[in-house]
Amino acid sequence: MSLPDVVIVGGGVIGLASAWRMAKDGLRVTVLDAGQLGGESSRAAAGILGPLAESSRDDAFTALLWHGLERFPGFVDALREDTGIDPELDLTGILRLVAADEAAAYRDSLAWRRRYAALSVREETWPGFALAVWSPREGQVYGPRYLQALADACATRGVNLQRGRAATGLVSHGGRVTGAQTTSGPAAAGVTLVAAGVWTDQVLQPLGIATGVRPIRGQVLAVRAPAPHPEVRYAAIGYVARKRNGVCIIGATEDDAGYDGSVSLGGIVRLAEKAARLAPELSGASFQRAWAGLRPKTADGLPVVGWWPGVEGLMVATGHYRNGILLSALTAEWTAALARGGGSPAPGVTASFGPERLLSKPGSPAGPGIG
Ligand SMILES: Cc1cc2nc3c(=O)[nH]c(=O)nc-3n(C[C@H](O)[C@H](O)[C@H](O)COP(=O)(O)OP(=O)(O)OC[C@H]3O[C@@H](n4cnc5c(N)ncnc54)[C@H](O)[C@@H]3O)c2cc1C
Repeated sequence: MSLPDVVIVGGGVIGLASAWRMAKDGLRVTVLDAGQLGGESSRAAAGILGPLAESSRDDAFTALLWHGLERFPGFVDALREDTGIDPELDLTGILRLVAADEAAAYRDSLAWRRRYAALSVREETWPGFALAVWSPREGQVYGPRYLQALADACATRGVNLQRGRAATGLVSHGGRVTGAQTTSGPAAAGVTLVAAGVWTDQVLQPLGIATGVRPIRGQVLAVRAPAPHPEVRYAAIGYVARKRNGVCIIGATEDDAGYDGSVSLGGIVRLAEKAARLAPELSGASFQRAWAGLRPKTADGLPVVGWWPGVEGLMVATGHYRNGILLSALTAEWTAALARGGGSPAPGVTASFGPERLLSKPGSPAGPGIG
């Protein structure tokens, strides 16, 4: 059998979305995942698509998130065509609740936020909050269905999905990466994309290079209420998102707990407190379950996507931190365009998010590279 064009290390939302997009473009793709496809950080996500909710500044990152949102509907339509699965994309709005201590800064930010969407602001109408801001173009997707659609779409397009096959490093010769090393032998390809979330640097480390990505644990609670509020409510303290099946997801903690992906009692208490403030009507809701995941965060909190400088054939896509679902469609188009030998599909928006920035900072974790 001939070599695949691309081998992707990591079958989370970033690896799967990239694989599907590349396969749609006619590339032959293999995905290696150490465990289950989508079984780590991606499985934990609440599925909120909230570029303005997630932003506090008018900067390149906010523009990137918004671009990610704009790419989502077309991406989901194409996924549905390939699989028949509806990932329950809902872009009918998010209610951003603003506390008294952030209200002045939020009011100052309204001018730039309104360049993105026609926000409507009500003062002091929500108990315990100073402002209630309706943002009509943000929303959510149902994470488990989105991941299922991506995995099915990959299979439909002939992606070779290898579950339970971990990369132990990369195969390199004379400054060029030619695939991933695994416990069951090498997986060779012309292009190697490392998208292994918080484990990315373990794969890069034998080459002496690193993104500096590290885990930030997020814990989440799911409850079921007879008549829960319909909209996503989002505040600096957390969020409550109701899914179509009536389950409300309450999120999320931000814990510096290393690679510990367990749920803690303290985490559950904090989540219950968030719910009490954001959706007091949920106090009688029945507990469904709780889970945790490890968000991949770089030193500057921004994603890193692109060719690794000075190492031919090696691409990385990680560091999506709190917004990996939101940025998955854009990241997939970006990695696929690069793999085809082109440039980013939105160079003005993506320019600041390549790996070059990791190499240019003093004390950078990126290391010398090979070559
Ligand atoms: C609680 C929580 C809530 C969140 N909510 C949202 C949200 O509402 N909206 C949003 O946009 N984002 C959200 N996120 C963030 C989002 O989930 C992440 O940014 C995203 O899932 C990262 O995807 P990934 O593919 O990079 O990583 P992962 O999903 O972690 O995938 C990495 C994959 O690599 C595999 N792997 C690891 N090592 C190896 C190896 N050596 N060889 C082969 N495979 C390997 C793993 O098994 C894993 O499947 C949330 C995250 C958490 C934890």
